[in-house]
Order: sequence, then structure tokens, then C-alpha cells
Amino acid sequence: MTTSPIKISLKLEEEISEVNNNELKSEQGRSVILAIVLGIFGALLNSIPIDLAYNISLVLGNLAFIIAAAYLRPALTLLTALLCVAPLLIVWGHPFGFVTFGLEALFVSYFRTRGWYLPSADFLYWLVIGMPLTAFFIWFNNTDAQEYLLFSLFKQSINAVFYTTIAVIFIFIFGEKLTAWVSSQQPKLEKNLKQYLHYILWVMSAFFVVGICLFLSRGLNDIHHQQFEDKLDISSQYLTRIVENYIDEHTRAIAQAANKLSAIDSNEYASALTKVHQLYPGYLTMLVANKQANIVASSPSSLMDNLPEKNYSVADRAYFSQAFHNESLYISPVFLGRGFGVDPIVAISAPIYHNNSKTPAGIVEGSLNLNMFEQAKQVTEHSSKVAIVLTDENGSIIYSDKSLALTTLSKFNFVIDKAKLKHELMVIGDADAKKYLYRQTQLNNGWKIFVVVEHLELLNLIERQYMVIFMSLFIIFIFVVLLASQFAYILNKPLAFVLTELARSNNKEGYKPIPFEAPTEFFTLYSELQKSQERLLKHQYILEEKVEKRTRDLNQANESLKELANKDSLTGLYNRRYLEQKFSELQAILSRNKGAMVVAMLDLDHFKRLNDEYGHLIGDNCLEYVGQLMQSKFDRRSDIVARFGGEEFIVVAQHDENHGVIQKLEELREEISRHCFPYDGEHYLGITISIGVVTAQANYAEKIEQWIGLADEQLYWVKENGRNKMSVTHLD
Ligand code: GH3
Ligand code: MG
Ligand code: MG
Repeated sequence: MTTSPIKISLKLEEEISEVNNNELKSEQGRSVILAIVLGIFGALLNSIPIDLAYNISLVLGNLAFIIAAAYLRPALTLLTALLCVAPLLIVWGHPFGFVTFGLEALFVSYFRTRGWYLPSADFLYWLVIGMPLTAFFIWFNNTDAQEYLLFSLFKQSINAVFYTTIAVIFIFIFGEKLTAWVSSQQPKLEKNLKQYLHYILWVMSAFFVVGICLFLSRGLNDIHHQQFEDKLDISSQYLTRIVENYIDEHTRAIAQAANKLSAIDSNEYASALTKVHQLYPGYLTMLVANKQANIVASSPSSLMDNLPEKNYSVADRAYFSQAFHNESLYISPVFLGRGFGVDPIVAISAPIYHNNSKTPAGIVEGSLNLNMFEQAKQVTEHSSKVAIVLTDENGSIIYSDKSLALTTLSKFNFVIDKAKLKHELMVIGDADAKKYLYRQTQLNNGWKIFVVVEHLELLNLIERQYMVIFMSLFIIFIFVVLLASQFAYILNKPLAFVLTELARSNNKEGYKPIPFEAPTEFFTLYSELQKSQERLLKHQYILEEKVEKRTRDLNQANESLKELANKDSLTGLYNRRYLEQKFSELQAILSRNKGAMVVAMLDLDHFKRLNDEYGHLIGDNCLEYVGQLMQSKFDRRSDIVARFGGEEFIVVAQHDENHGVIQKLEELREEISRHCFPYDGEHYLGITISIGVVTAQANYAEKIEQWIGLADEQLYWVKENGRNKMSVTHLD
């Protein structure tokens, strides 16, 4: 079976396009594989986020989709990003990463397609879309991060700068190897020297500055936190001691007062009590009650007068019953005072005995001024940032800082929040639920001291620290831009100078030296370029000379070739072809001037015989000899002398009234017949010539053949009539 050529070529084309298709498919396949591999790599990195502070962590895996953006179109870059971000869904517990980072991938890849650099595109993204979007998400969804919104935003953008620079450095190092495996879908970036320097310096400084800042700040966070913890520790220890001392001191005071009162008569109670109270102003009020629980003395003594009844009983008070019936020192929980006032108080009481009796004769009681803690706290704390809460054994608030807005006597309600964070936080209050770092200590009497500092204080401190980093970064970037510009300028200036200097075509005054400071390589390069340019110019000069000479020779050769083509080789006269051309020219000129023309035909007589007798060589010499004679005879510029063929010649010339040409023809005939032809230097040969001539107005006939025909007629006549003659016909 035979196949037609068309079918074969079609088949070939199909095969070629199939091969192309296959190549394309494998190329696309590789791109998809690259997207997936990068995605998985990023996902692995992202599944181990590096904690920075609280629930904020550094994510590095996103560098994978930045790398992808350098090679892949937006769709595949998005695929990489979605794979990368997947673990963050678990780590962060919300899906916003898909949106912010997905958009980032699309944005960066798209702008890379438009010829942008990766870092610039990423920077723009975070400025215009990323930060506002993150703020939106935090504001509407994550109450925790709201407290440190700015911090979160800056962290996100610094984080992005960091992983982008790592990605770019990765491309710097491994880019070529990657391109060998998969051809980039993105266009090549063309950079000039300045752009290169900007790019490299930016990337390097961003990498080192951000990297070091993030690393250091991690440590700083811990240090800040530790400082807060230390502050809490010291405050709580100090406060514990102060409160315990305060209670101990006042408890001892009551015990001593009880002893003293036991030793004196009941009518001396009032003055003794006043003396004790003077020594211990920490007591708001003091009282003595008798067996019947009736108040018998008070300090200040005026309080007695304000009592609602004469025998005011405190039998129902715990401080009475506990001290009286249990016969022991008693410290009450906090309660609201009655009788002597309605302040929240802690009562300390002890039994009084009389005359060494076994049963108590009454009690002495002091109501402790709880506001005394305010002074104690002021001693401990320089800044008002640390707040304290003092609770009794029942968990009721004895004292709390005003800043906490808690009610004394009420239960101290709080929740310990362990969620997500490295350390526990105390959440106080229901409405605004502020979070506090806290320290809790229990006193010997079952009271508790809580020292708290608002978590926001620490966050603010860290936020300020990140703000400082961000600002430093910004300043460093500006510095880097200036530096890169200056650097590029320093390199560019001598280079531009060298180029313009070398580009000047005439360097007859020589090359100017580089007038700036420049790296030594530039000077070497310049002198090398100068040398090679000089060599080049010299070479070019020689070449030009050669070409000029060749052209001259060629022109000469052309000229002689033309001559050769126009001339008869034997006689040197014009040949028949050229005769026709020359004839037409002369005829045109003469016709315009209404001139007349002579056409003569000359034929050697019996030349055949000469050839036969002496040989062709002699015949040739003879033709040459006649030719020379004719040439010397008709030497005017307008005369045309040509060899017509064989031993026949043509003379064309301007005919004048004096018949000059005809005379010359006659002279020629005579000369030839008179002189003999010296054929070998010694022997002479006699030859004759016959001439037929026609004269007429130049425009008589247009074609030379007509003229020659007429001349030939005359010649024929001469031949018929004895030869060695000339016959002329004049036509009107
Ligand atoms: P006539 O007087 O009638 O002109 O007699 P002729 O012999 O000159 O005339 P013919 O035409 O019979 O012979 C011309 C001869 O010229 C024949 C040829 O041998 C000779 N001839 C033609 N061209 C050349 C040439 O270039 N060199 C030599 N040597 N002879 C030539
Ligand atoms: Mg002849
Ligand atoms: Mg002849």
C-alpha cells in the first residue's frame, strides 16, 4: 500500500503536535507536583508554630507558597497555600488563615506575573489587604486577641516579611536547580544594577533584622513575664508578712489587754482600755463586756453614749461567745459592725478573768481597721499597677483595691483561665472579665492574700516592644534603600563614564581617566577595554585601506574588461558590437546639429593569397599593421575606427565641406600601397586596400547596416574595377 506525500506530512504534523502536547502535559504535571510538594512542606512547617507570646506564634510554613508564587500561576499557588494553611486550622482553631493567606498567595502570584518582586508584592498585600482583613477578623471573632490588636497586626506583617525573605533567599540558593526540573510559568524579571542591589540588601536586612528581632523578642517576652512574676512574688510575700504582723500585733495587744483587765477592778476598765487603744490605733473601736455580755467600757468612751440602750448586749456576737464560752483568743471572719458603727470589721477578742476565778468575768474586744491595709499596700507598691485582695477563711473580701471595684464582705469570685496560654490567668468580675496574673498566699489564720496585676499591662509592654521592633525595621529599611541607592550610584557612575568614553567614536585626544573613586576592577576593566578598542580601531583602519585598494583594482580591472569587451583583440580597434553603439551616439549628435557623416568600408586586397603564401601569422601581423595606421590617421575624438570582420574595416566620422575624412582615407590608401609591410623585420611585403565610401546627412538612414550596405556597394565596385582604389558616393 502506498501513502500519498500529503498524508505522510499530515501524519508527521500530528505526531509532532502529539509530542508537543505530551511535553506540555508533563510540564503541567510537574507544576502541579511542585505545588503539592511545596504545600506539604509548608504544612509540615506550619504544624509546629514557634510561640512568640501568648496565643501568638510565628508561622514559617507560608514561605512555601511564596516560593510557589515565583514559579506558578495564581491558581496553583493558591493550591500550595491551602495545603500550607490546613494545619493552622487546628493550631489556631479558626479558618481565617485560609482567607488571609489564600488571598496573599493569589495576590503575590498575580503581581509576580505582572513583573513585581515577591517582597514588594507581599509588602503591598499586607499593607492594603492583609492588615485590615486581619483586624476585621480579630475584631469580630477573637476576643482574646482584641486586647492586643496592634500587636497581632504587626506580628502578622512582620511574620509575613520574615517568611517572604526566607522564601526569596531559598530561591536565591536553590532557584536554578528548581528551574532545571520545572520550567517557570512566571516571566523572567529583568533587573538593572540598582534594582539588584536594592533587592539583595532589602532581603538580607529584612531576614537578619526580623530574624534577630523575633528571636530576641521571644526571650524578652519571657523576661518581661518573669519580671511581672517576680513583682507578684515579692509583693505577696511582703504583704503576707505585713498582714500577719498586723494581726499578730493586734492579737497580742488584745491578749495583753485581757491580762491587764484581769488584774484591775472593773471600774478602771474604761481608762485602761483607752490607754491600750492609744497604743494600737489600728483598732477602730474597743470594748469590754461583762458576764452578762453587756458593754461596760468602750474606747473611744463616747461610743457608750451613742448606744441605743443602757445595758447593750453583745451576747449574740461571735467575738463574745467564742472568747467567753471557749475561753480562748478569737479572731472573727469579716462582718459588718453593729452598734458602734456599720463598718466591715474583723473582731479580735479574749476572755477576762477576775480574782483568779476559773470562769471568765467578761471579754475584751477590738475591731480592726481594715483600711489599714491600704497603708500597708502603699508601702509595698511604688506603681499602682499591682492590686491586692484580702479574704477571710470564708472567702469573703476583707480588703480589696479600689481599682478592682469589689465589694467588701462579699464573696471573692474569680475563675482561673488555663486556656491556650503558658500560664494561668485569673478572671475577676463578670461584666468586663479582666484577666490578671496573680499570686495567692494563705495566712496562718486561714486568710488569703491575692496579689494581682492586669495581664494587659504585660501585653502592653510586649506590644510596645514589638512596636519598637517594627519602627526599627522601618528605619532600617529606609536606611537600606538609601544605602543601596548610594551603592548603586557609586558603581554605576564610573561604569557609565567608561561606557560613554569608550563609545565616543573619535578618541584622538585619548581616553580620559575615571575621575571618581571606583573599585580597582573598574580601572583594570577600563584599561583592558581601551586596549582592545585601540586594537579594534587599528584593525579596522587596515581593513579599510585594504578594501579601498581592492576597490580601486577592481574598478581598473572592470575598466579594462570593458575595453576588452569593446575592442578587437588583434588590432586593438573597436569591434563590431561597439561600432554599432558608437555609431548611434555619433549619429544622434550629428543629427541634432544637422551635420553630415562619412561611412567608409576598407578591405585588404587579395588577402587570402597573402595568407596562403606567408601563413596566417604574417596575415595577422599585417592586419595589426593596417589597424595601427588607421588609428593614427583617424585620431579625432569623434572618429570611429573598427574592425568589421576578417580583413574588413569601417571608418565612421563627421563629414565636413572640405572632405577632410575622404582625403585622409585617400592618403591612407596611398600610404599602404606605397610603403611595404615589414613582416619579419628584414623582408617587406607590398599590400593594397580598397575603399568604398558613402557620405550623407547624418539622419539619412537610421541603421548602420544601411550605411554599410551603401559603402559596401562602392567597395564592390572598386574590387570589380582593379582594386587599390577608393569610390565615394555622396547622397543628399
Ligand atoms: P579580394 O581582393 O577580392 O578582397 O580578395 P581576398 O582574398 O582579400 O578576399 P577573400 O574574401 O576571398 O579572402 C579573405 C581572406 O582573409 C580569407 C581569410 O583567409 C583571410 N582572413 C580573414 N580574417 C583573417 C585573420 O584574422 N587573419 C588572417 N591571417 N587572415 C584572415
Ligand atoms: Mg574581404
Ligand atoms: Mg579582401
